[in-house]
Amino acid sequence: MTLNRLLSKPPASDFQQVNTFYFLEEDGFELDANYEPSDEDEQEIPILAGQYIALETGTISLNYYCKDCDNTRTFNSDEKQGLHGIAVSRQMVSIDCVLKCVCGAVVHVWYLVEAECDFRNQSPKIRILHFREKLSEGVKLQSEQYGKFAEWLEKANRANRDGLGSGAVIYLRKVFESITYDIAKTNNISTTYENGNRRKFNKILQEVNEKHAIIPATFSENGYELFSELSKIIHGDGSEEDALKYFGALRTLVTGVLDNIKQKDELRDAVQQFNWTTN
Ligand SMILES: [Zn+2]
Repeated sequence: MTLNRLLSKPPASDFQQVNTFYFLEEDGFELDANYEPSDEDEQEIPILAGQYIALETGTISLNYYCKDCDNTRTFNSDEKQGLHGIAVSRQMVSIDCVLKCVCGAVVHVWYLVEAECDFRNQSPKIRILHFREKLSEGVKLQSEQYGKFAEWLEKANRANRDGLGSGAVIYLRKVFESITYDIAKTNNISTTYENGNRRKFNKILQEVNEKHAIIPATFSENGYELFSELSKIIHGDGSEEDALKYFGALRTLVTGVLDNIKQKDELRDAVQQFNWTTN
């Protein structure tokens, strides 16, 4: 794999081997011609923190929804300019670049790339330690199969990747509550009492689930035990550690509810309203 390909994929926690991407520049640090490094010495070749380095690799390509193009588009880094980085240490490189849509819309992305040993090695093993993006106006995270909920789900993933447990859970909760209210509204299940006060979310969920069984069977089988556990965390009664520990299960629950709704004939109208693709 090449460095640009790895940077064009979602960040993963494991190190992956990429083609050599760092080559000494003409005026860079040069070794004595007679110098033969041993494995240990190799570790000692100095790198200047803050050194600007050219990265020998192709372009970074990421997909976003572009409002001007009214479609999902691939945004690319500039091929002629190439990619550059700033050395942080021998194991760390900061890479900053601007990705462009064909229409000119831009996304600013930043990566902190970590090497298992030394990023200057031949075919180093690396991973993306941090990733940030700044979308310009009119550019959105692509909405795949979950329509208007895709962005919140993606934000939940990102918060979780950055170790922000409560933040990740809040996005999942937004999806969970929003879909439940939507189903209630499109199926004449009251979300308020006669006096206008809002009904408790749990009551609405219970009624929606009794009528339309939106909670996946795998979660409701054990007398709602797992569901109520997850429900506690999703509603803020869990610790930050719990939020991170159970994030996978919570996300499965929430996407399971969304998948379940898509498959139900009686909820088809609601699904169309959410602008989902149903294949
Ligand atoms: Zn565009």
